[in-house]
Amino acid sequence: MGGGFASLGADLAARAAAGLYRGRRVLEGPQATTVRVDGRELLAFCSNDYLGLANDPRVIGALQQGAARYGAGSGASHLVSGHSRAHHELEDALAEFTGRPRALLFSGGYAANLGVISALLGRGDAVFQDRLNHASLLDGGLLSGARLQRFLHNDAASLEARLARSPARRKLVAVDGVFSMDGDEAPLAALAAASARHGALLYVDDAHGFGVLGERGAGTLEKQGMGSAAVPLLMATLGKALGVAGAFVAGSEELIETLIQFARTYIYTTAMPPALAVAAAASLRIVREEPWRRAHLQELIGRFRAGANALGLQLLPSQTAIQPLLLGDAATALRWSEQLLARGLLVPAIRPPTVPRGQSRLRVTLSAAHSVVEVERLLQALADIAGA
Ligand SMILES: *Cc1c(COP(=O)(O)O)cnc(C)c1O
Repeated sequence: MGGGFASLGADLAARAAAGLYRGRRVLEGPQATTVRVDGRELLAFCSNDYLGLANDPRVIGALQQGAARYGAGSGASHLVSGHSRAHHELEDALAEFTGRPRALLFSGGYAANLGVISALLGRGDAVFQDRLNHASLLDGGLLSGARLQRFLHNDAASLEARLARSPARRKLVAVDGVFSMDGDEAPLAALAAASARHGALLYVDDAHGFGVLGERGAGTLEKQGMGSAAVPLLMATLGKALGVAGAFVAGSEELIETLIQFARTYIYTTAMPPALAVAAAASLRIVREEPWRRAHLQELIGRFRAGANALGLQLLPSQTAIQPLLLGDAATALRWSEQLLARGLLVPAIRPPTVPRGQSRLRVTLSAAHSVVEVERLLQALADIAGA
């Protein structure tokens, strides 16, 4: 290729030389604690299927029945003729479950964050983001044209100082409920108080809390006792703990109607297949009816942390299913990941730009589908590698 594209090869080579090249593994079967890759069975600690629902027979059955009733695809966007009864019922169920007047489905969390922020903000407005926010929140802010202000991670005083200085017409504070690469939770009460003092709207992306945290599994807000007065707008995905795909935003009548009218990633895209909505509704029922999944997951988290601490490994202060082991440079993280792979365990290394330089890690994730014995196998393998 000519012109400016002649440097693509050099850019790829530079990424490889820095130990940052990414590749994909091909799974030959379902997402489960044991996955089939390259003809090998690997014990995996890396999916976001926190409740073990991605391969649940009831969810698969719902998907099949949904396809039998509604067909394979939705055939149109929601505003044309793609909005089915299945979508509508799932929205109602999600609104009820999150204790909000309305919910709105998006094809994914990435699309939801782009759509929400760019529908609510424009030039002259400001978006305040935690430094460790997910890429989709940052990209939504960029797309909106609003002024970007980043504040120190989980630091309400740092947020407040920036809010106080901002002359913006509209101020939106966006945070992850559970930070995707660190596993810690946002301090919602403090962030909500700071937001309220400055007329800002707090928007929480609970991709990793929804289904997992709180007595009922309603997420980080439930766990921290926060309602819609503190957090008027909530987003969560259906592809993580719910094991399917898609996302939703929940909030007031006025906010949701605003999104239907102005969120371009809602308007100009094909509605998710209705069968996925039927499957996600089945997952949501399991989330409500099987609290033992959350209890078992908590037990595994406790065992993993105790075991890793005993080995002297550097954990982050996370109480969630995301339990990163901090290793430092990208090469070390890669080496640990490869040594685990040699022992039949799949835990990919997370490197820059996903995490800051010098903070490469193994992002261990636990699932209610794991057994205690499987977690012990991981700890044993980590002990071997740490000792070697
Ligand atoms: C995964 C994730 C998203 C994106 O959701 P998708 O449904 O996968 O597009 C958004 N925000 C956070 C915090 C996430 O972890």
